[in-house]
Amino acid sequence: MKNPMNQHSGDADVIVIGGGIAGLGAAVRLKDRGLEPLVLEADSRVGGRMTTDRVDGFVIDRGVTLFGNGFRSMRALVKRLGLSSLTCPSSFSVGIQDATGRRGYRGGRFDDLLFDRGFSWRARLASLRFGFDLLWHRRALSHGNSFLSGAMDGEDCQTYFKRIGGEELFERIFWPGLNGPMGGAVEKSSRVILMQVIWNLLVRGEWNLTDGVDRIPEAAAAQSRVVTGARVLHVQRSEAGVQVEAEISGKREILRGQAAILAIPGQLVPGLCPGLPADMREVLARTQYSKIANVAVALSKPPNVSYAGYAFTPDVVPGAEIEMEHLRAPNRCPEGTGMAGVFLWDTPQARRLEADDDGMKQQASEIVERNFPECRGKVLFAHVVRWNIGIAQFPPGRLREMTALRKRLAAWGEPFDLCGDYLDGLSSEGALRTGEEAAERVARKLTPH
Ligand SMILES: Cc1cc2nc3c(=O)[nH]c(=O)nc-3n(C[C@H](O)[C@H](O)[C@H](O)COP(=O)(O)OP(=O)(O)OC[C@H]3O[C@@H](n4cnc5c(N)ncnc54)[C@H](O)[C@@H]3O)c2cc1C
Repeated sequence: MKNPMNQHSGDADVIVIGGGIAGLGAAVRLKDRGLEPLVLEADSRVGGRMTTDRVDGFVIDRGVTLFGNGFRSMRALVKRLGLSSLTCPSSFSVGIQDATGRRGYRGGRFDDLLFDRGFSWRARLASLRFGFDLLWHRRALSHGNSFLSGAMDGEDCQTYFKRIGGEELFERIFWPGLNGPMGGAVEKSSRVILMQVIWNLLVRGEWNLTDGVDRIPEAAAAQSRVVTGARVLHVQRSEAGVQVEAEISGKREILRGQAAILAIPGQLVPGLCPGLPADMREVLARTQYSKIANVAVALSKPPNVSYAGYAFTPDVVPGAEIEMEHLRAPNRCPEGTGMAGVFLWDTPQARRLEADDDGMKQQASEIVERNFPECRGKVLFAHVVRWNIGIAQFPPGRLREMTALRKRLAAWGEPFDLCGDYLDGLSSEGALRTGEEAAERVARKLTPH
């Protein structure tokens, strides 16, 4: 019998909804499997949370700023897109300030923790135990292997550090250092996510691009048909596969394909795709992201820095951390200048995101000038980027739930699939992996032999 999803009619073989790195990664993989994708992106540019603004010679990455050496799919995609000449190694170190002063740690150097006399012996022993746990679980922590991490996913970070005697480590290092990147909810997050971030990004080292990170989604988009300014309103099953209703440049249009991949944040899927089974819609509707803002503070002179990042306990500076953008990779700032990326989020002590743009610029500039007194009066401008859908949240059990969903999609006969960071952690690598995975599943369905 002829597979109805195998008939070649319509606007594309596969309609990919969402042109972030997950959707674009899916499109590249579909092309590699001989299928014709069409990507529909609501925004006026592709990339989603992996985009770059260029202002007065400063290259400002809006969301994604760091790639870990554990990001194998991203590396392979960069090579596949001919962008390898833009990659450069980058090293990470963070200065963490609490009421007693500032201490520095280098990425992947557990000895910095172990020999830190500012910590009790109990905390230093706990750091050994933590390092051992990372090594022991390293396969499960590598992106794409979250199906192996189920047994670890039942415990939140705070409970885990308490269990290994590392409360002090958590309060003075991991909480201030990773609370922002993990969306302001590190204590309630599954310990797998914290360990995934540390293992893939901090322990194994980092790399970056000598231009904005948007070069990757832009190059991926150049390989497929992409329509920007195309907001998808409705997706449904049709006789030949799927039918997608979208608003493109103010006009409603119907597009047809054999299958669709929804590469948008999970909580937006049920509204677009009411025909999905009720239990799947219920699981997706519970997807959560935290809000975050990234304010780039351009400086007429680079500050005298010892670290690539600066974090603070909440009694010192609540709800903020700094990344030194001019140290991350060359070409981010005009010669002789510098840039500090200030990440801001809401805490009980400071409702930072409630400020308007001017208020936010002021907050960020003050944090930079306070941290680097030599930069007083050196702020050229501040550039605000707000993310209402910012960092994916994974309370204990959520990753396990998402792994079960991905398994179910693999066995599902319907012409729909899903991808996005919410299915595999909170990084661009997780997003890309799920996109490639969805493309493989769909390719298997459409070309069964
Ligand atoms: C401030 C910040 C810093 C970060 N830093 C890092 C980092 O350093 N390293 C790292 O690896 N990760 C980082 N991340 C996480 C990373 O940005 C994401 O995990 C990744 O970019 C998500 O990709 P995605 O394709 O799943 O989603 P998105 O990038 O959100 O893409 C989804 C796309 O779907 C589109 N869309 C939504 N609805 C519709 C619709 N109805 N019709 C058509 N299109 C639609 C959106 O416009 C968007 O372009 C950071 C995130 C933030 C917010």
